[in-house]
Formats: sequence, C-alpha cells, structure tokens
Amino acid sequence: MTTATATETVKLFVNGDFVKSKATQFSPVYNPSTGDQIAQVPFCSAEETGQIVQAAHDVFPAWRDTPVVERARIMFRLVSLLEKNADDVARIISREHGKTHAESLGSIRRGIEMVEFACGIPTLTMGDTVHNLAQDVDCETYHHPLGVCVGITPFNFPFMVPLWMIPVAITCGNTFVLKPSEKVPLSVMRLAELLQEAGLPPGVFNIVHGDKTCVDTLLKHPLVKAVSFVGSTPIAKYIYETAVQNGKRCQANGGAKNHILIMPDADIDRSVAALQTSAFGCSGQRCMAGSLAVAVGEAGEPVVERLVASADKMKVGPTDRDSGADMGPVITRQHLDGLLANIDQGANEGAKLARDGRSVKVSETPDGFYLGPTIFDHVEPEMHVAKTELFGPVLSVARVKDLDEAINMTNSHPYGNGAVIYTRSGRAAREFKHRAGAGMIGINVGVPAPMAMFPFTGHDASFFGDLHIQGREGIAFYTQQKMIMTRWHDGGGAGEFVTTRG
Ligand code: NAD
Repeated sequence: MTTATATETVKLFVNGDFVKSKATQFSPVYNPSTGDQIAQVPFCSAEETGQIVQAAHDVFPAWRDTPVVERARIMFRLVSLLEKNADDVARIISREHGKTHAESLGSIRRGIEMVEFACGIPTLTMGDTVHNLAQDVDCETYHHPLGVCVGITPFNFPFMVPLWMIPVAITCGNTFVLKPSEKVPLSVMRLAELLQEAGLPPGVFNIVHGDKTCVDTLLKHPLVKAVSFVGSTPIAKYIYETAVQNGKRCQANGGAKNHILIMPDADIDRSVAALQTSAFGCSGQRCMAGSLAVAVGEAGEPVVERLVASADKMKVGPTDRDSGADMGPVITRQHLDGLLANIDQGANEGAKLARDGRSVKVSETPDGFYLGPTIFDHVEPEMHVAKTELFGPVLSVARVKDLDEAINMTNSHPYGNGAVIYTRSGRAAREFKHRAGAGMIGINVGVPAPMAMFPFTGHDASFFGDLHIQGREGIAFYTQQKMIMTRWHDGGGAGEFVTTRG
C-alpha cells in the first residue's frame, strides 16, 4: 500500500460519473513490462462502498421496468463499440497486465462473445406455460431480476472476466457493482465509457475499488442480492461462505492445476505445440493453463525433448510496445519472487529442471517482471510444484506408465477445473472424458475454456456454488423465477369475469 504519489489516481464510476474517491489508502498499479508504477488505485472505505451500492439500488426499479428488448439493444450497440475499440483496449490491457497484444485481443474477443450471448436474453429468459393444468387453471413462469449484483474479479483477465458477468447480469435487469482487481483497474474504466456510449443509463453499472474492507462491505450489504467471484481458491471459499452466511446468492470460481495427458499414440508435434501454448500463454497466468503434463509410457522422452526445444525459441519481452515478444512478464515483482521461490523448492525436492527460465534477460526493459519458460521433468504428485497452482510460466511434467495411472493422478488432485487428453484412440478418449474428475475436458484441445453459451463448469476446489458463470446457468444465477397459477371459474364467482364456453 502507498500514500498518494504523482501518478494517476484511478477514479470510481458511480451513477454515470467518474469520481475521485475519498480514500486515504492507495495501492500501486504497475506496467509489468517495465516495472514502472503507472497509477494508483484507491481503497474505498466501507462508507464509500455502501454509497455506491445504494446508487445501484436506487436505479434498479427503473432499469428492471425497462423493456428487455431495449436492454438487449444496448448490448448490440456494445458489441460494435467493443469491436471498433478493441485495438485501443488491448493496448491498455497489455500495459497494465503484460499480455501480448494478440493475447489481449483474444481476451476481448471472448468478452465480446459474452455480450453477443446477452443479446439473446429476451429469448433466453422466456418462461414456461401450461394451459389447463388443473380444471380452469393455467400456469406460467417468469424470470425476474434480483436487484444489485456484485462482481469481484482477478488480475489475470482484467477485461474478459468482468464481461463474463456484467452483460448477462444487467441485460437480465439487474444493476451491477464491479470491484476489479487492484492490480489491473484501468481497462475496465474504458468498459464503463463504452457502456455509457452504448446508451446504458447512469447507475446501472458502477465500479468501486478496494481491498478486503471494500469486499467485506459488498458481501454483507443488505441491498446486495448476488455475488459473482473469480480468483484464487482460498479467497473464493471465503467469499462463498461469507456471502451465503449473509443471505446472498454466490458463484465463486477458484484456482486450478490442469492436467494435460499425452498418450504414446498422440500426434506428438501437435500435442507439444498445444502444451506450449497452454502452459506459457499469458505467461502461465490462466486458470485454464495446462500446468501439469502427464506423459504416458513412451511419450515422456519425445514430449520433454521437443517441448524444451520449442520453449527455447520463445521470445520473452515487453508487451507495452511492438517488441515481437511471444511471452510477456508476470504481474508483479512480488509474484515473480514467489515463482522463483517455488522453482527453488521444486529443484530441492528432486524434480529435474529440464529448462530454467530464471536466466532470461530482457535488455530493453531490465526492470520488468520476467521469467522465461521453465520446465520441470520427473515430477511426482507429492512435490510442491505438482500440488500447488504456481500461476506462472512453469510447466511440470510427470511420467506415468498407463492411462489408468494418469487418470488416477488427475483425480487425486484437489482442483477440478480442466483436464485434457491428447490421443488418436477413441477408446482412451472416451475412458478419459467419463472418468476424469474435472469440469472442463479437452480431447486434443489444449485449453478447453467454454464459449459464452456453455457454463464454466469447474468442480471441487475450483468452484464454490451451484450455478456456474456463463451459459444458461449464468442466466439462472442472475434471475429468480416466479410461478403464477391462475383460475378463472366458468360461471364466475364474486368479482370474477364470467365466460360462456362455446
Ligand atoms: P485473488 O484471489 O488474489 O484476488 C481476486 C479478487 O479478490 C481481487 O479482486 C482481490 O482484490 C480480491 N481479494 C484478494 N484477497 C482478498 C481478501 N482477503 N478478502 C476479500 N477480497 C480479496 O486472485 P488473483 O491473484 O487476482 O487471480 C489469480 C487467481 O484467479 C488464480 O488462482 C486463478 O486460477 C484464478 N482464476 C480462476 C478462474 C476460474 O474461472 N476458475 C479464472 C481466472 C482466474
């Protein structure tokens, strides 16, 4: 935490205005490519956070009563604004996060898909009807919004993860308060501008910045109805428990250790190319990163050999300029130091360092937070590097004798986000897809992150809640159903309309 400095202080977005926070505590925001501080983000007090919730609550009745097709039209306009501004937004993401320009653009594309999905909400929120369910009784359901919904998001996808939540929540008729990661608060400010330009009325979408004080206020505030969280497992568990204890709906996505199985019959070149992208894309800072490769039988030697050779060719460098880098920095100096300590521990526990990324040199920007692609071979399940989500460009390779051992290894891990198999055998793929204990399965697909119309189905320690983010579950999360049963007696009763049957 810092006190005020000369750098830009990030504003709040409340009731359609960008306003200066009254906070007295701030956190630095870095450009990880250079190591320079580029902004500071305020840590809002409980009082200021509560005022923002109140603002979102005040506009809820008018927004709820805005016809759903009008709400959806704003999303149609947002799609074209996002497409038009994608290049500029990508530059903000790369500067605050360190993704390459292509990675930032890719993340915006996935976000746009969520907005496109929300354009269909008039259809997706249609209820059911049954005529004459009992004598003279008709029954119908409607999907109504909840009220103020809250999103608390991680650093690794500054723009995309908020878009997993906001378009669906607001098009369903809710109002929204976002608490972005304090490490990457800049690109979502641009999203607020674009929402405004698309015609979203003031107060429907708001941004608050802060730490635990701010989050706890959101979790306990009586006017907050639902909480969507994406982040690490310990915080996801805390968020879920606290929100539920305070009577909120909650969906909380946690961390991951995604196993990538490579069978001896797999196309090794394709598998290695996919593994490299999965493990080192976004510098390994992805909840769907393949961070533990499980080489089955004879696959071990060729996989490690070719993986090291292709990782050697990757250019690590700054992403805030056109440097031609294949991989950028990690998020902060502190995170880099943690990764270095984890690599030390892996080596001390006996994992073989097949490629050591610690020696990487980036002469153009030597103070950036860089780690080159790092590969551990002969990793055993009880080692720290196998058990822990490191969240950096560090890939562990375990070697096992057969598919059974590989599936057992996958299933004994506490996380259950993604799992992948590379094989030419339909039989092995079928065995894997039904037995693997993870919510998102890839068969010859390295990063099986679902598109907007499918739910993001983490299991076990990777998810806390009932209804997942995205897809129809996302719609169900942001709406409540009302069932209406109607009887109009033939012949009429007191005050009832009298009909005559033909
Ligand atoms: P994090 O848990 O540290 O932070 C996430 C959010 O929680 C941030 O907004 C942060 O300000 C807030 N927060 C942090 N500590 C808190 C506390 N004690 N009390 C209340 N709020 C707190 O996560 P991160 O480091 O920003 O992101 C990386 C993690 O997110 C990884 O574990 C990654 O796997 C996970 N992730 C999961 C998914 C998924 O869909 N499963 C997607 C993206 C990222």
